[in-house]
Amino acid sequence: MKITILGSGDAFGTGGRFNTCLHVETAEGRLLLDCGSSSMVALNRAGIARNTLSTLLFTHFHGDHFGALPAFLLDAQFVSRRKDELLIAGPEGVEQRTMQALETDFPGASGNAWRFPIRFLEVTPERPAVLAGCGVTAFPMVHDARAGPCQGYRLEAGGKIFAFSGDTAWTPALVPLAAGADALLVECYSWNTSLANHLDYATLAAQRAQLGSRRIILTHMGATMLAHEEELPEERAFDGMVLAL
Ligand SMILES: [Zn+2]
Ligand SMILES: [Zn+2]
Repeated sequence: MKITILGSGDAFGTGGRFNTCLHVETAEGRLLLDCGSSSMVALNRAGIARNTLSTLLFTHFHGDHFGALPAFLLDAQFVSRRKDELLIAGPEGVEQRTMQALETDFPGASGNAWRFPIRFLEVTPERPAVLAGCGVTAFPMVHDARAGPCQGYRLEAGGKIFAFSGDTAWTPALVPLAAGADALLVECYSWNTSLANHLDYATLAAQRAQLGSRRIILTHMGATMLAHEEELPEERAFDGMVLAL
């Protein structure tokens, strides 16, 4: 499994980083895990041909994780001229949220006669799935119920496990999410200010011993985290980082 972190930023592009977008490649296929607002720029910059992606999988419905979906669909229709089915997977409500986002960004577009089949799939903690050759298990995260259900995912392929928190405050569900993973990519938005909907480094450091993953990589860092980045022992994500698991 090869993961390229196309976007490692927070919601605001702090530090010039792109919004969350991960390109996941297995022996059987490719998917994007989150596709935040700036992701069409990130995909173009990385030279990723959109038609090679079978699946888009979302952690939750905030713009910095979900916001480029309308542009991705219109690109598929008018620019990339996609033929193959596109699978759009995510928490409960993913189809309705997609139609809402399309109507907001490009009024009328939800009624498009698409040149390619679109299939929606709800992946929930009770309903795991196999997407682009990855076994995908969802874990409930604690972030913002208005933009969710918010989920983290464990992806398993080729005997390797990649875990991603999406956005979340500290929750005990991070423990089984991380257990035995080859790599955990975990959000760490703030330095030492405890927040109701995001992790801060002080909390993560205090809980870290419970996270049984081989590697821990911090992402979604805000301004206070980036100011302290150089002094941390943990790996930190950056745009273009490749995890070869
Ligand atoms: Zn976010
Ligand atoms: Zn969010």
